[in-house]
Amino acid sequence: MKIRCPDGSLKTTEWCANCNKCLPKPIKDALLPVERKRSNSEIPRFGVTRVTNKCLRSTYFDLTEEVVHDLEKLWVFSRGHAFHEHFKFDEKERFIKKNFGDFEVIGFIDAVHDSVIYELKTTNNIPEAPQEHHKLQAQAYYSMMSDEEKAKIKKILIVYLSLQKIKVFEVPKRDITEFLEKQGRILVTALKEKIPPNKTQSWLCNYCSHKDRCNGHSDDLFVSDAKRTKQASLI
Ligand code: SF4
Repeated sequence: MKIRCPDGSLKTTEWCANCNKCLPKPIKDALLPVERKRSNSEIPRFGVTRVTNKCLRSTYFDLTEEVVHDLEKLWVFSRGHAFHEHFKFDEKERFIKKNFGDFEVIGFIDAVHDSVIYELKTTNNIPEAPQEHHKLQAQAYYSMMSDEEKAKIKKILIVYLSLQKIKVFEVPKRDITEFLEKQGRILVTALKEKIPPNKTQSWLCNYCSHKDRCNGHSDDLFVSDAKRTKQASLI
């Protein structure tokens, strides 16, 4: 991971941690993420949010390109984490994994309390209805549970938290295992063939950190029509 410095240059997290120019050290220490060790699994492992992402092209770039964050974005992550710590649940950050043969999907359920799955979302603007990719994320956690665990789950709640408000939505208990498998297999193929999946354009493109790359502005994304057709036939 690289950090975009306020001066515009890209820095390693180590460099950023030892520099005191833009923010006091205790503030910055709380923002900088701890680099996770790479899994030594023999098959690809995708996080739940990678496979439930509406645009797998953006996931592909997340997986193959260096991730760059600016400090403001790290503050949003860090603030969300602090909010989550505030609540007293029976269980927080439950690790969950499902093996699909040639790949695995893994994730952490924000919380499970009294047999209810909680997905917590920190946001500036609370939506009128839960966002589709958030619903899929929460339903993915439910789907990845064993049949025995699923039978015990009473409901799935998505809780949106802003500095002013809290809004709770219940989403249907839907098993989306087939969808997860289909999405994961598209990613496996794309990574094997080194061809980014097709664009899925939506309002999320406005917030996509790969917008330039997606439109071929930053590197050699040229893929022949023949290859693209071949990829589409595998989906
Ligand atoms: S800009 Fe839009 S279509 Fe392109 S990768 Fe990002 S989300 Fe996908």
